[in-house]
This record gives sequence, structure tokens and C-alpha cells, in this order.
Amino acid sequence: MAVKSYKCPNCGAGLEFKPAHQKFRCDYCLSEYSEKEILDKDKDHIETNEVDKSLVEQDHLASYNCNSCGATVVTDDTTTSTFCYYCHNPVILSDRLIGSFQPNKMIPFTVDKDQAQKTFLNWVSKNRFVSSDFYSSSQLEKITGVYLPYWWADSKIDVDYEGEKNTSKVWTNGDTEYTETNKYRVIRQGQIEISNIEEVAFSKIEKDLLDGIAPYNQKKVRDFSMPYLSGFFAEQYDISKEEVTHKIDNQIKKISNILISNTILDNNQMKVLKDQNNIVSKKMSYTLLPAWILTYQYEGKTFVFAVNGQTGKSFGELPISNKKILGTAVGVFVVTTLVLLLGGMFIW
Ligand SMILES: [Zn+2]
Ligand SMILES: [Zn+2]
Repeated sequence: MAVKSYKCPNCGAGLEFKPAHQKFRCDYCLSEYSEKEILDKDKDHIETNEVDKSLVEQDHLASYNCNSCGATVVTDDTTTSTFCYYCHNPVILSDRLIGSFQPNKMIPFTVDKDQAQKTFLNWVSKNRFVSSDFYSSSQLEKITGVYLPYWWADSKIDVDYEGEKNTSKVWTNGDTEYTETNKYRVIRQGQIEISNIEEVAFSKIEKDLLDGIAPYNQKKVRDFSMPYLSGFFAEQYDISKEEVTHKIDNQIKKISNILISNTILDNNQMKVLKDQNNIVSKKMSYTLLPAWILTYQYEGKTFVFAVNGQTGKSFGELPISNKKILGTAVGVFVVTTLVLLLGGMFIW
């Protein structure tokens, strides 16, 4: 498997993308580089190790040799960007980013680890039932930046809508009753473009969680560029384009209907004669979006917290400490009993 690492041109250490600086930085000599500098460097010196001999594909795991320390590192079947477990060198599994698995677009991280941790602490502090080891520093260290795969669709829709309605107004003037009937016909024909319709392409993280940190600012999307993965985890899609086609088509048609009805002043009692929207073209882009994810095991249950790596929006479930709840329940019980006793005293 081809393994790729972006190395510091100055000292040779692994380079990571730093969201707060929007630059690539070496943590050892503190040199900073732009994307262009990294890509230019990459052209004349490709840091790709072909380690086919050492590659072992076992069930869902693959192992490769770290090109910094030589250790064997095992990854999950969908991972495309990771770290060496031993020397922490960022490693990109470039073989998993080619062909149909080559991403088209991405939104790079703008929220860094520090910010994600602060968001988490702020969120935890609002909940008094949380067990304190949930936000210990060792727990906070586990928050992980990961690029998650999505399908985005750009489409053109032919619209052909026709509706009809009658309105009438009755009034009297002297002995005469007047009725005025107006007959309207609404026609909407043409082509509309709907872009960036989104569906999650990864099944290993709950959709509710990902919906909870949506939306992303789609204006900031850019073409995929491999160096941005350096210093983060990245995953391959495991839900195919075909599997989401139906959902995406439904979304497109729904939006197209809304757009049409927004152009009609009054939809009340409209008799629809024709309502067609045909998707005439659709381009699907494989897009990577950034998220910070923290998972936590508590009393046999897994809890997940996520922060949108672009906007900072967070979502998650908190484990609730039974001890703290019990404390409050006892408090409530005592107060209730007192009130009842007092009530009783008054009756007597
Ligand atoms: Zn360096
Ligand atoms: Zn290593």
C-alpha cells in the first residue's frame, strides 16, 4: 500500500494542517508552509513509500509500515488518513484515495482542537448531572478531528406546472346582485438548478449526530487537496452513490416544489392540472467535511459528542451520573415530605 507523509522541508518531521493558522506547520522546528509550497515541494520529492511486501490485508484491517519509524500500523478498512501509533507521524493512505474513492471536494478544518475542547467543556458545564471523569483532561485528549464522507449533488430540473383557480365576489347594489368571477391560470415552465444537496456517505457514525452538527457553510467548499488530511483522520465512504440516489432525488423534488410554490401568491384552492419536475441532469460529488468527535463509554453505553469542524456547532448526548441524580432526588423527597408534613399540621 502506498503511504504518504508530508514532511517538513526544513527538518523532515511530519507536517500537519493547523486550522487556526490555515497553514501547514511543523511542530518541531515551527516552520509554516502554505498549501502551494507543500504541493510544489511534493512534485519534485514525493514522500510515498511503496510497501506492498509488508502489506497485510486481513478481513477488515490493513497494516502498513510507517515511513518515519518503520513500525507496523494497523488501520480500519475505511480509514484514509491517520497517525502512526508509535511516533505519531501523520500518514495518508493514498491508495485509498484513488479511482472511485478520490474525493472531489472538501471543506478544510477551521475549528482547531483547542476550540473543540472548549466547546465541549462549555457544553458539559451546562449539565450538572455529568460525571466528572467525563471531562477529565485524558478524556479531552481523545477528541479527534476527522474528515467524514458525504455525497453532494448538483442538479438541473425541468419544471412544468399548471394550476387553475376561480375566485368570486358577490355584492348588491339596490335590487341587483352582482357576482364577479375571476379565473386564474398559473403556468410555471423552465429549468431550475439546485446545488449541493447533501447525504451522509458513512454508516459508522449515527446520522442523528451528524444532522445535529449540520449545516456546513457550502460556500467555503473547495477542490479536494490531499495535504489538508495531514494531521487529521479521514474516512472513505461506505454508502455508495447508488444507495443515496433515491433520497437525493426526493430532496431535489421537494426543494423544486417549494421553489415553485414560492412564486405563486396564493396557493389556496388551486386546482393542479399539471405538476412535473424531471431531473434532467445530476452530478454527484464525493465530499469530505470536517468534524471533531469524542466518544465515551459510561456504564456500558457509548456516548458521542461532535463539533462541526467548520462552524463550531456542537451536538451530543451526556452520560448522567446516577449519584448526582440520586442526590437531587433525595433533596426533592425531603422537600416534598416537609411540605406534606406542614400541610398535615395545618389540617390538624
Ligand atoms: Zn520542521
Ligand atoms: Zn511511526
